[in-house]
Amino acid sequence: MKSEFFVVGIILIMVGIGVSFYGYKQMQPTGLEKTIDTIAKWGEALSGEKSPLPKRDKTGSVLIMILGGIFFIVGLNMIIKSGGNRESRENIISSQMQDYPRYCPNCGVHVSDGNQFCSKCGAKIES
Ligand SMILES: [Zn+2]
Repeated sequence: MKSEFFVVGIILIMVGIGVSFYGYKQMQPTGLEKTIDTIAKWGEALSGEKSPLPKRDKTGSVLIMILGGIFFIVGLNMIIKSGGNRESRENIISSQMQDYPRYCPNCGVHVSDGNQFCSKCGAKIES
C-alpha cells in the first residue's frame, strides 16, 4: 500500500514537472516574437510613437504551470505520507521491542533487561 503511494507520488511529480515545463515553454516568447518586439521598439524609438503590440495571452500557460505545480505538490505529499507511515510504524515496533528501564524495588539499582534478580542485592524483580 505504502509503496504504491510512493510510486504514484513519483509519477505525479514527473508529470507535474513535465506539465509545468510545457507551460513554461508555452509562456516563453518565440524567436519571431522577440524579433518583432525588437523591431517595434526600434520603431517606437525612431518615430516617438507607441506602437500597439498585440498582447500575448499567457493565461493558458500560467494555468498549465499551476496544474503542473499541483501535480508536483500532490505527488510530493504522497511520497512524504508513504515515508511517514513507514517511519511511524517502525517507531511503534521499536518501542514495543524495547522494555521499560527496570529498577530494583529494594535498593533502586538499575536492572538490565531479562534479569529476574537484582545484581546488587539479589531481590526478585517484578516485571
Ligand atoms: Zn537491589
